[in-house]
Amino acid sequence: MTVISSAGITATKPIIITPFPDNPKHLILEQCKTVKDLNQIHAHLIKTRFISSPSVAENFLEAAAIILHHQPMDYALSVFEKSNEPNSSAYNIMIRGLILKNFPHEAVLMFKKMNENSVQPDEFTFSCVLKACSRLRALEEGKQIHGQFMKLGYGSCGFVENSLISMYANCGEVGVARMVFDGMPERDVFAWNALFSGYTKSGCWKEAVGLFHYMLEMDAKFDEVTLISVLTACGRVGALELGEWIKEYIEANRLKGNATLVTALIDMYAKCGQVDTARSLFDQMSRRDVVAWSAMISGYNQASRCKEALSLFHDMQKANVEPNEVTMVSVLSSCAELGALATGKWVHFYIKKKKLTLTVTLGTALLVFYAKCGSIENLIEVFEQMPRKNVLSWTVLIQGLANNGQGNRALKYFDLMLAERIEPNDVTFIGVLCACSHAGLVDKGRGLFVSMNRDFEIEPRIEHYGCMVDILGRAGLLDEAYQFIQNMPMKPNAVIWRTLLASCKVHKSVRIGEESLKQIMSLEPVHSGDYLLLSSIYASVGRSEDALRVMGEMKKNGIKKSPGCSSIEVDGLIHELFAEETAHPESEKIYAATEKMMKQIKLAGYVPNTAEARLEADEYDKEASLSHHSEKLAIAFALIKTFPGTPIRISKNLRVCTDCHEAIKIISKVYDREIIVRDRTRFHHFKDGSCSCNDYW
Ligand code: ZN
Ligand code: ZN
Repeated sequence: MTVISSAGITATKPIIITPFPDNPKHLILEQCKTVKDLNQIHAHLIKTRFISSPSVAENFLEAAAIILHHQPMDYALSVFEKSNEPNSSAYNIMIRGLILKNFPHEAVLMFKKMNENSVQPDEFTFSCVLKACSRLRALEEGKQIHGQFMKLGYGSCGFVENSLISMYANCGEVGVARMVFDGMPERDVFAWNALFSGYTKSGCWKEAVGLFHYMLEMDAKFDEVTLISVLTACGRVGALELGEWIKEYIEANRLKGNATLVTALIDMYAKCGQVDTARSLFDQMSRRDVVAWSAMISGYNQASRCKEALSLFHDMQKANVEPNEVTMVSVLSSCAELGALATGKWVHFYIKKKKLTLTVTLGTALLVFYAKCGSIENLIEVFEQMPRKNVLSWTVLIQGLANNGQGNRALKYFDLMLAERIEPNDVTFIGVLCACSHAGLVDKGRGLFVSMNRDFEIEPRIEHYGCMVDILGRAGLLDEAYQFIQNMPMKPNAVIWRTLLASCKVHKSVRIGEESLKQIMSLEPVHSGDYLLLSSIYASVGRSEDALRVMGEMKKNGIKKSPGCSSIEVDGLIHELFAEETAHPESEKIYAATEKMMKQIKLAGYVPNTAEARLEADEYDKEASLSHHSEKLAIAFALIKTFPGTPIRISKNLRVCTDCHEAIKIISKVYDREIIVRDRTRFHHFKDGSCSCNDYW
């Protein structure tokens, strides 16, 4: 502290300042750095009676409440309590200080006290206390204050209205916010931005885009904050044209140094499906924070470019940027899609290590991931650990259990869900019907189907009818299933008939199988899989001529089998293996390993099922062709690349064929491996020579 000499004042240590200026604010402001300084000045002001000057007292209060912004409010409060009959400025200082130091609730109480003591609030008071309401989302208080402001007849006053807009927008009343906005005779950029931020928070993307067009029409001034809101909205509604206009504006005005703005651009391009443009912007950034990385990773994820999402995530880890919740949700979603268990587990481990809260969003993303990877135990573990769950979390659990052949367990959780009074939705019912189907519970399924509408007022959609067809067909009630389809209130689609056709294959019903294929043909172009199903139905009842005829028709119609592809994760990398292909760099090794594996399982009693192979591959050696199905190659690859005893997880783009299914059962026994295969429709958990699907898929 600098001593400015003293005439007449014999301050020993405290240090002051004479003649005391009329406006001592500057001095107080400059000299107060700590509570100790404050104490000294306070003592001096009392001693010299300067404190009785209202302006000095006010400046001192301001120093205590606001200028020392790292100090708690206690000191200021005690000064305020001692002052007699504080005026509106004193109240304003206190309210501002309380908001600044994050006590919005106390700020509102201070405002109430002001009213009780009949001190008239001014525009600044209103603006401040509205900010507090906004932060507290205290709509009722906010409305009352709005009313009081109107009653006092201050008329329009830009910054109070700006605070009103923010308050209403933050409390979810964005329509009222707009009314306040429309009533303003003049609006500065803060008013516009307050409304934009309200639209963004309430997800009113179209309105935000509309508002910006209006802004351009009015020739109103906007800033970078405006552009960030508008870009977010453009991404959500796919307004690429406006987004590109903003990009050009940014380039023309040299705003590319603003990382937040560029990140908003990346997000906009990614959400509009222009992932590569987003990537080139991302690559040009000189500094990238977690938000930028997340925007790019989630862009790849949303475009189903999951491998790129994960590879970028690995780059992010190398760059030592810590992921946030958005990153983790996108990464988990990509892992789920690819079946990338190791990477997803790393994310789970990271969450545990950092003791991050399992929010509903993050927890549910983990559930989806484990369900899709077929990790039942982890799925249940995460579910049990989630502090809060919503209907989506329950549904993911139930559906995950059902798809993984754990029908009874899924139904148990459904009962628990009802006991906890969580209202199921239509998707939950797809899960429970699916569970009944897997567990072979026909009556239970019929009961739930009726109860949907009766007890929960959910109108069954075509997907629910499909589940019922699956339940009946799987149980061998093919005629009932056929009748059920005939009686549906809507026109059955090809998916429904395919479900029935698949049942016909298992239960060897030629008549209904033929009818189903006819129906599929009348609805949409037939897949190779449909021909294969009917053809194998013929083969299974010994009508091999018909079987060959169907395959001939398929060829005549120019329909090719889509190539089988199985993917498998080894050491954090995803490998894709195609049937009968040698594109993989280690393909020689893989084919040799496959041969060895097939020899091993033959010794254990495996007999190649050439009935289907004959239909599918006439120009190849049947047996060799069979053993080169992509899932067999992938398993052989896993056997040489992973430690004995580790489970093998594979995802396949098509249905597993009968021969592979038999072979994998025996492989699981001979090599003592748990093998989890996710095919186009469901999971197969192979263990000790049997499969969780009970040979029905
Ligand atoms: Zn196969
Ligand atoms: Zn199976």
